[in-house]
Amino acid sequence: PILKVALMGLGGYAERVAEAMQSCTRAKITGLISGTPEKLKTWGAKYNVAEGSRYNYENFDQIKDNPEIDAVYIITPNALHHSQTLRVAKAGKHVICEKPMAINAQEGQEMVDACAAAGVQLLVGYRMRFEPNTLKAVEMRETGKLGKIKFFQGQTGFKIGDPNQWRVNKELAGGGSLMDIGIYAINGARYMVGEDPIWVTAQETKTDFETFKEGVDETILFQLGFPSGAVASCLSTYSMNHLDRFYLVGNDDFVEMQPSTGYGPIKGRTKNGPLNQPHTVHQTVQMDEMAQIILEGKKPILPVDGKVGLQDLKIIDAIYRSCDTGQRQELQLG
Ligand code: NAD
Repeated sequence: PILKVALMGLGGYAERVAEAMQSCTRAKITGLISGTPEKLKTWGAKYNVAEGSRYNYENFDQIKDNPEIDAVYIITPNALHHSQTLRVAKAGKHVICEKPMAINAQEGQEMVDACAAAGVQLLVGYRMRFEPNTLKAVEMRETGKLGKIKFFQGQTGFKIGDPNQWRVNKELAGGGSLMDIGIYAINGARYMVGEDPIWVTAQETKTDFETFKEGVDETILFQLGFPSGAVASCLSTYSMNHLDRFYLVGNDDFVEMQPSTGYGPIKGRTKNGPLNQPHTVHQTVQMDEMAQIILEGKKPILPVDGKVGLQDLKIIDAIYRSCDTGQRQELQLG
């Protein structure tokens, strides 16, 4: 079976997804949702989406009557994910939602609950969870090749540029770099260490108060503690380039990944040399895998469901609370 997917929000990342999906064997684009009629026309023609399967933000609830759509892939600014997910669930369609799944844990919980109540699946666009070198590192850790895990370092950052984009608009982004890219270090810490954190401490610094207004973080340093005693130290920033690196340290070996979360190729090495898994187009693999998860109940090696997304949001909430209070926050991810 082929997963029939409507793309919602035809921006930069949706374009990357659409191109990658041309190579999918288990998923295809069968619907489009956009507020721009011109885009519906050009994308509709380019990706061969019937006029009757093109919607705008006012009328997309009508997808409920469209058998050509199984799932909607939400690729809009962060703060819109919550209400859009609720509407898609209500229309009885599966939801694939971009990261961050929402802008706080309360919203995330409502999304998980709404999808469960509607009997649809909720998946999050965590493409790294399907990336071969990443999975190799996880396998090495799981099979004991690294020895007891002690430390993880996650560094994610780039210079944001245009101060007028939605990514630095609190209303649409829900926060700043942490929401956008710090989440890769949060999510990565969990699959690299192989545990969920039980506490977090965090510190925020800001140098550019024009671009990064109240509630939009420029740079956050955060630390995570895990039940085994392993610790993580992470940096998320919108004001430095050359930061896309994971470093996992065990008693017997390490894995360094750099780049660790970019579109690839992802590079990794241990003390014995490079990880040499093949480069894949992340979004192609992600969508083929998600099709199998949704249609065939496949269990992925690393889960990408709403629960994982919600847990990341609980960590994000706690990081912001720690920045505000200066206090360590205990975590109960559930
Ligand atoms: P973008 O600005 O390029 O695209 C956003 C799209 O949403 C635009 O087409 C815009 O017109 C549309 N939109 C709909 N309603 C809007 C509104 N009310 N205000 C503003 N825009 C509105 O952004 P993007 O880079 O494509 O990011 C979209 C989502 O995808 C974000 O949640 C982001 O975190 C996520 N993303 C994920 C990855 C990844 O690797 N998984 C990469 C990039 C972006």
